Amino acid sequence: MDTHQLSYQIDNRLYLNITDSCTLDCVFCPKTRGSCKVGDYDLTLGYRPKAEEIMACISQPEQYDEVVFCGYGEPTLRLNLVVEVAQVIKQQGGKVRVNTDGLANLVHKNNVLPKLATCVDILSISMNAQDADTYDSICQPGLPGSFEKMLEFVSEAPRYISDVRASAIDGIEGVDISACRKLAEQRGATFLVRTLDKIP
Ligand code: SF4
Repeated sequence: MDTHQLSYQIDNRLYLNITDSCTLDCVFCPKTRGSCKVGDYDLTLGYRPKAEEIMACISQPEQYDEVVFCGYGEPTLRLNLVVEVAQVIKQQGGKVRVNTDGLANLVHKNNVLPKLATCVDILSISMNAQDADTYDSICQPGLPGSFEKMLEFVSEAPRYISDVRASAIDGIEGVDISACRKLAEQRGATFLVRTLDKIP
């Protein structure tokens, strides 16, 4: 029988792997380089797990520092599942983080932040670059206007969620970390420098 790694643990954080789809094709993504491995975990999915399957991976969420929606795909593409599962985690005393590309409002064509604010403690947005040209060359977005919409999302998010982080990876060609920091902080987000191949 095929088994899928729907959850995995790093330190005292539980990660939920709910989709392998996203609208970006980042040059640094292990998935686009042919591997979905995180340490010993293989996050290859190839299907859309149901909320019940994800819930079955979580027991006593309050025992973890955080329960994080993050796999090799964009969790907010499955917005309803994120909200359904995150609400249960919150009811059980857990802390919820969503790692996102910040394109949910573009994809869903409306402001999803009020919905996320009902059940998400921390939103961690991959900003990745300081301008559209650099973003397009390293993230290869499938949807036009992605960089601008991501930045808009970074600006809007702190109005709904108190802990919003925006990040970029140090050492990627063309990425200006101090310019990214400025963009994040001007928008009320905390800036994080990520390390390549390390799950934040
Ligand atoms: S958004 Fe995430 S999963 Fe998608 S290609 Fe980029 S790094 Fe990979």
